[in-house]
Amino acid sequence: MLQDLTVKVKSGNRKLKSSDPSVSSLIAAFLSRVNATRFSGMDYEKKGSTSFSKGLLQSEELYRYVLETCVYPREPEPLKELRDITATHPRAVMATAPDAGQHIAMLLKLINAKKTIEVGVFTGYSLLLTALTIPEDGKIIAVDMNREAYEIGLPVIRRAGVENKIDFIESEALPVLDNLLANPGNENSFDFAFIDADKINYWKYHERLMKLLKVGGIVVYDNTLWGGSVAMSEECTPEVMKEGRQRTLEFNKLLAADPRVEISLAPLGDGITICRRKH
Ligand code: SAH
Ligand code: CA
Repeated sequence: MLQDLTVKVKSGNRKLKSSDPSVSSLIAAFLSRVNATRFSGMDYEKKGSTSFSKGLLQSEELYRYVLETCVYPREPEPLKELRDITATHPRAVMATAPDAGQHIAMLLKLINAKKTIEVGVFTGYSLLLTALTIPEDGKIIAVDMNREAYEIGLPVIRRAGVENKIDFIESEALPVLDNLLANPGNENSFDFAFIDADKINYWKYHERLMKLLKVGGIVVYDNTLWGGSVAMSEECTPEVMKEGRQRTLEFNKLLAADPRVEISLAPLGDGITICRRKH
């Protein structure tokens, strides 16, 4: 079914790079077609468009069932508001899927996370989720090299009364992690990390997190199924997804072989890999 899928990419004479903002829109279009094809088994365009573009379950109906029965009724009002605001953003597909978010909140509660870090904020869905979940004296170091999208979510975060838990740093993530490590007090001190930024650096983030996290601490990596492309052949993968697919394949392999962590790849959203630091 997926082999028949073709994505028409209109980019004129411009050469697309994976860092190009329009690439995420193309990937969004691709994902919604992949999902629609997977879910309906019918010609997607004949069925008309759907807002559905995330999730790797067998059918759209099943995913909707999960969302409507278990996720949306429990989604805090400010998060719902932030999700609605983000939906109109051209790069809305980047926001954490609400079912994955609910799972992350469960993990935060299970380990009673207080000191946390997030790499890749965008408009702040996963950030607000974390801020609402951790206790009043909890903290989040939130890093994104672009503050613009964060500003969109900030009024909602303020109204929710959780801005005091957030230390937003506008920067490339790697130097921030290295700075944290320069202070020995930060070693073995973080309860939780959520990594949702540039896939090319995931392993570098992982190496640093293995020092920053407590033993028993958890790091969650997002997009570890890369739109399902990890199970596609190279030829069937659209050009704009090839690099991300390759990075994801390499990263997943390295994680699976890393004796420092216990891992579980949960097929929620675009795939989240949960790693628990063992020693
Ligand atoms: N977790 C967010 C989605 C993050 S999207 C949510 O739930 O909505 C990915 C984000 O990573 C983008 O905002 C992008 O600006 C940021 N990013 C990409 N590369 C980065 C880097 N090297 N350092 C810091 N942030 C980066
Ligand atoms: Ca993501």
